[in-house]
Amino acid sequence: MKEGGGNRSRELFARAKKVTPGGVHSPVRAFRAVGGTPIFMASAQGARIQDVDGKEYIDYVGSWGPAILGHAHPEVVDAVRCVAGKGLSFGTPHEGEVELAEMITRMVPGLEKIRFCNSGTEATMSCVRLARGCMGRTKIIKFAGCYHGHSDALLVAAGSGALTLGRPDSAGVTEGAAQDTLVLPFNDETAVEAAFAEYGKEIAAVLLEPVPANAGLILPAKGYLHFLREITRKHHALLIFDEVMTGFRLAPGGAQEIYGIRPDLSAFGKVIGGGMPVGAFGGRAEVMDFLAPDGPVYQAGTLSGNPMAMAAGLAQLKVLARGDVYKKLEKTGKALEVMLAQEIKDSGAPATWVRIGSMFCLFFCPAGLVIRNLQEARRCDTQAYSLFFHSLLDGGVYFPPSQFETCFLSAAHGDGELELTRTALRQALRHKA
Ligand SMILES: *Cc1c(COP(=O)(O)O)cnc(C)c1O
Repeated sequence: MKEGGGNRSRELFARAKKVTPGGVHSPVRAFRAVGGTPIFMASAQGARIQDVDGKEYIDYVGSWGPAILGHAHPEVVDAVRCVAGKGLSFGTPHEGEVELAEMITRMVPGLEKIRFCNSGTEATMSCVRLARGCMGRTKIIKFAGCYHGHSDALLVAAGSGALTLGRPDSAGVTEGAAQDTLVLPFNDETAVEAAFAEYGKEIAAVLLEPVPANAGLILPAKGYLHFLREITRKHHALLIFDEVMTGFRLAPGGAQEIYGIRPDLSAFGKVIGGGMPVGAFGGRAEVMDFLAPDGPVYQAGTLSGNPMAMAAGLAQLKVLARGDVYKKLEKTGKALEVMLAQEIKDSGAPATWVRIGSMFCLFFCPAGLVIRNLQEARRCDTQAYSLFFHSLLDGGVYFPPSQFETCFLSAAHGDGELELTRTALRQALRHKA
C-alpha cells in the first residue's frame, strides 16, 4: 500500500493525531478508506493544489464541491479582502446578506425566501424542523445513501464518510432521534408508495439529494423525481431537495432546474459560499414564514450571514450568472467522459463511470452494472479503488479518497489538466497490487 503524502505531511499528521481524533476535522480526510497518510495541502490555484512537500496535483475534489470556478478565483478573493477590513462579523443585519439572498432567489425558480446558516448540515436540519413545525407531522422519509450532514435525525443510512467507515449509523444517535426517520431505497417508487400507504398522515416531508452524490454518483431514474413531487403533493407532505452539492453546480437553478421540479424547500451550501463556511435553505414564502421571528419554528446562528462569506458567495455567483461557465463545464465534462471511456476500454479495467455536468464518479463494479441505489453501489470493489487512487496520486492527480464520493471539475480545468490526467489515469487503470 502506498503511503500518500511526503515527509512533511507525515510529520504534521503525527502531530495532528496527538491533538485531534484521527488527526482530522472531518473523517473522510483521514484516508481510512484508501489507506496511507492524508496529504496536508498548503495552497491551491485554479485546478491545481499543492501539498506541504511541494508536490502539485490536478484537483478533482475542489474542497468537496465549492470550488466550481477553481481555487482562489481572483474575483472571489478580492471580494473577501475588500470586506475583511471593514469588520469580520457584526451580528446584525447588513447589506451583503440582502444582496446574496436577492441573487439566489433570482437564480433559483420558485425560491421565494431564503435564510443563511453556516453549513449544509444546519441547512438540512433546519429544513426538517421547519417541515415538521409547519405541517404538524413528525415523520421524514430519507433514502439510503443520501447524505444530509450529521444532525442526529439524518445520520441514518447516510452516505459519504459514514458509509466509508462502514458504519452507516453513528454511535450516540438515539433510537428516539432516529425513529421518525423512515429510510427507503432510492429510485424505488413502490417503497415510497408503501410508506405513504402506512404512514401517510404522519409524514411531514420527503428529503433527498435529487442527484445522490454521497454514495458515489447516482442518477434519478426517468420520472422518479416527478413521481416524488406528485406523491408528496397528494399526501400534503413537503418535498425537500438537498441541493447542498448540486445547487449552482449543475445549473444556476440546480437539479430542480434541470429536472423541472419545484420542491417546497431546498437546502444549499458548498458553491454558494465560494469556499467560505455557508449554508442556506429556502422555499415558498408561506412555508419559510413559519420561521422565527415571524413564526414558531426556531432557528438561529451567531455567525449566520457572515460578511466575508456573503461577499465570497456573491462574487462566485456573479461569475456563474454571466452564463458561459456551465457551457464550459459541460464541454470539459464531456471531454473527460470520452477520455474515461477510452482509457477504461483500452485497459480492460472492470470499471464504469457516471457523469452529470461537472460531477462524475468512476465505479469499480461489475461491467454493465447501472447503479441505481446504495445497495448496488456497495457492490463495487473498494480495494481496486484504493490502488487506483494511490496510483493517481503518484501521477499527480487528486481524486476523492473514497469510492463513495463524487469528483468535481471546475471552470479552471482545461486541456492541459485533462492531458496530465489522461497520463495518470492510463497508468492507474493498469496498476496491479
Ligand atoms: C456536503 C453535504 C451536506 C453537508 O454539508 P456540510 O457543510 O458539510 O455540513 C449535506 N448535504 C449534501 C448533499 C452534501 O453534499
